[in-house]
Amino acid sequence: MKAAVVREPFGLDNLKIENLPFPTGSDENALVKIDLVGVNPVDLNVVLKKVLYGIAPIPHIPGAEAIGTVLEDSNSFRKGDKVVIFPRFFDGTCNMCSKGREYLCEKGSLLGVGVNGAFCEAISLPETNLVRYPDSISRELAATLSVGALTPYHALKRVNAAPGSRLLVYGGSGNTGLLALQLGEMMGLEVSAVSSKPWVSRFLNGKLFAAEDEVTGMYDVILNSLGSVHFKSSLSHLAPGGSVVTFGTLTGRSSELDLGSLYTRENSVVGATGGSRSELLEMLKMLEYRKMEAPVEATYPLERIREALEHFQKRSSGRILVSVPQ
Ligand SMILES: [Zn+2]
Repeated sequence: MKAAVVREPFGLDNLKIENLPFPTGSDENALVKIDLVGVNPVDLNVVLKKVLYGIAPIPHIPGAEAIGTVLEDSNSFRKGDKVVIFPRFFDGTCNMCSKGREYLCEKGSLLGVGVNGAFCEAISLPETNLVRYPDSISRELAATLSVGALTPYHALKRVNAAPGSRLLVYGGSGNTGLLALQLGEMMGLEVSAVSSKPWVSRFLNGKLFAAEDEVTGMYDVILNSLGSVHFKSSLSHLAPGGSVVTFGTLTGRSSELDLGSLYTRENSVVGATGGSRSELLEMLKMLEYRKMEAPVEATYPLERIREALEHFQKRSSGRILVSVPQ
């Protein structure tokens, strides 16, 4: 099969399409033909070897977010089933897994980072990494659920965002931002965003601020996955009892914290990563009743993976997808 493989020394120049043996399934492992892959910062960071986790194996196939079609019957899946790949590998038995937090599994790893990923024609996966999606959900939306949507959904669940809460999302036009806005609205939140893109306003029932220094008002929940830049100032927009959630370090890993303000206002700084399989199922359930848009800026065939990743760095109006031909 064809697969995008990155070899040492890592970098876009060393990401190439190679021919590898076609994988095989088993009773417990389903064999899945990859249909569509959503490009995320983690994919680029893996290729550039800039991830916070260890990459394995090397040479490596990146690709963390994908949908596919089951190729052979297995214990729980039938040939032809359309599936979203849940990207977290977990043992199901450790302390974290037993608490339903398999994304923190002590022996866990992430698709396209700790194990070979989805920029390929087919993959063999434990059945626990697959979730069926219905025909009513478009392929483009399905291909944005397991990372782009699950990450902010999990972030909102981490702080028990309740209906009526005021939400402020930094990077509202980004991979997760776009979905965060819509998920917040679905959960009954008053949704505002910081983004320089005017079109973001159509996803809001609150305010759009073009820049950080224009933000007004106080917020119960702030999603800020941008990293160091604006993290400290974003804390100043928290209402008493409010929480800021971080799940990215795009602009750096450090930030100052005013501990006095933190405790006197009972604010929380919360980390979030990925999300659980049950949260992915919850989102799929919500989408039976509610519409969500995942604007696509460009779709590239697998052979043009490098162009896809280059485009990803300068995208402006939606997601970059990689399609794998039938
Ligand atoms: Zn575990």
